[in-house]
Amino acid sequence: GSARRCLRLEPAAARQVLGAADTLLFDCDGVLWRGDAAVAGAPAVLSRLQARAKRLYYVTNNSSRTRDAYAEKLRRLGFPPAEPRQVFGSAYCAARYLSQALPPGAAAYVLGSPALSAELRAVGVPHLGPGPAALPGPGPADWSRAPLDPAVRAVLVGFDEHFCYAKLCQALRYLQRGGPDCLLVGTNRDHRLPLEGGAAIPGTGCLVKAVEMAAEREAFIIGKPSRYIFDCMASEFKIEPARTIMVGDRLDTDILMGNNCGLTTLLTLTGVTTLEEVKGHQESDCPSRRNLVPDYYVDSIADLLPALED
Ligand code: PLP
Ligand code: CA
Repeated sequence: GSARRCLRLEPAAARQVLGAADTLLFDCDGVLWRGDAAVAGAPAVLSRLQARAKRLYYVTNNSSRTRDAYAEKLRRLGFPPAEPRQVFGSAYCAARYLSQALPPGAAAYVLGSPALSAELRAVGVPHLGPGPAALPGPGPADWSRAPLDPAVRAVLVGFDEHFCYAKLCQALRYLQRGGPDCLLVGTNRDHRLPLEGGAAIPGTGCLVKAVEMAAEREAFIIGKPSRYIFDCMASEFKIEPARTIMVGDRLDTDILMGNNCGLTTLLTLTGVTTLEEVKGHQESDCPSRRNLVPDYYVDSIADLLPALED
């Protein structure tokens, strides 16, 4: 196809692009809100889109919140009412994947959060963890003797603020015991979670990498840029890629997934990406870098408001 150009979406073009779409997928943090504050004007834009009968879905790599919690946050920040089933988080989609991929009665060993556990419970996947884990004795000879649950046939790695060596040991032991029959699933590969002022904390990708390295194999990834999270949406709702816009603030997750799935991609600069980064990819000779370039950009999704006025 023709090279993507990252054009600024001015009101006239925005009218046309929005008019041609019936579905919009929104990344959340950095697009709709930052931390606990809505992006100014974003709730009004989503209300107008909904009034124009656009179908809105929310897609997040954050595995530490349930879809119910996202619906509640949208409500609290003044966005139009959303049903939990419009929210596609990596926790819900990982649970859905395991519910289909695991044989009946099989369980998952989980490194993650209470939200990940709640989503697994909601779809009926038996699991151990998440929660604190301790080594069963003082030395390596003890570490390989902690009891293993015979039902475990998968290791699932999500955001786990209690990640530790004991859990890494157990994950490796399940994966070694099961061999290729034990699934290894990661919710996402985000390597850093940016905080205000340029600071960052390590993301789930760091934890997935630790388990992959120990197990000497690659995890199946649920979240963006994996197309599994899009396929999940497309299997629950009728979504036509050619009439769908993916709105995101991150090139290597949101925009890459959108481009790979045949969606129109719109970058907003209210999150982690600058135009300079896009330029670097655009000018690159490397085709995989050019896949990170969005079709369009706006400073903020609030800039879409004029295009939605009558
Ligand atoms: N993972 C975690 C644990 C997070 O807290 C966040 C953002 O807050 C993300 C991933 C990235 O989420 P998103 O895809 O909504 O930008
Ligand atoms: Ca984001």
